[in-house]
Amino acid sequence: MTQETWDFDKLAGDVVTAESALASPEMVNAQVTQALNESVGDAPEPPEPADDYVSLPGGLYWDGELIRDAQVRELTGDDEEQLARVKGSLARWVSVLLERNVVRVGSVPTDATLVRRLLIGDRDALLLGIRIATLGKEITARQVQCPHCQGFFDATVDLSTVDTVRVDEPRPRHEYEVPLRKGRKALVRLPDGEAQELMLKADDATLPERNTILLGHCVVRVLDADGEGLRLSGPLLAKSLGMGDRQTILRHIHDTQPGPRLDDIRFNHEECGREVLLPITIGELFRGE
Ligand SMILES: [Zn+2]
Repeated sequence: MTQETWDFDKLAGDVVTAESALASPEMVNAQVTQALNESVGDAPEPPEPADDYVSLPGGLYWDGELIRDAQVRELTGDDEEQLARVKGSLARWVSVLLERNVVRVGSVPTDATLVRRLLIGDRDALLLGIRIATLGKEITARQVQCPHCQGFFDATVDLSTVDTVRVDEPRPRHEYEVPLRKGRKALVRLPDGEAQELMLKADDATLPERNTILLGHCVVRVLDADGEGLRLSGPLLAKSLGMGDRQTILRHIHDTQPGPRLDDIRFNHEECGREVLLPITIGELFRGE
């Protein structure tokens, strides 16, 4: 913005009179736009979004469209009672919680299918949103022992400031090409709620078995060096992959996956001045005080 005083004679273009404005409205618009640009400066910060809106760090592909926002609501006594009745894995509990308390994703009302199709990181972001709508954004971990000085302390964390990895330009269907050994390539999609449920349902599975479940769900196909697709799919394909390739794909999923990093919350212990890692579990999020 300039500090000069207005001088009509120095204004660019013709001076607008009522008659010329009627004659050429587009010229008036151009001048109005120019005047606005010169006088308003930077746009003001948008207002804080309402507490019940959550921006999805990955986004949901639904009917070919990418949706990046959702509305949640707080937990009621009725929700609490229903959730206490959920049998099965933590992933199932999370799905029921999301089915009940995510009102809509974009303009799509929530149901069981939609909740399973959400990326794991988007589910975490929604959980965090429901927790904030229900109990506020502050969470206190009590009697934490400092790994450096062994002292005990209470730590209060602002959940709205948890580091979140966002995908700025999501790939179609969240699918990525991952180079494997010997010129092969895997087409890999990011894990969703269904993958999470499948993995956690297998309670007594070993880690390699869990990885097979995850890879069986996320590896869409593998192409050999000539671009020919392998005939296998699902868990059989996952089992046929070399150990090195399996590690490569798991690493890719880990590094690419969006979402709040609830396992990487850091807190400064004042007594000794050192940083303490303070991971927060889903159970702790909804415990209240
Ligand atoms: Zn300490």
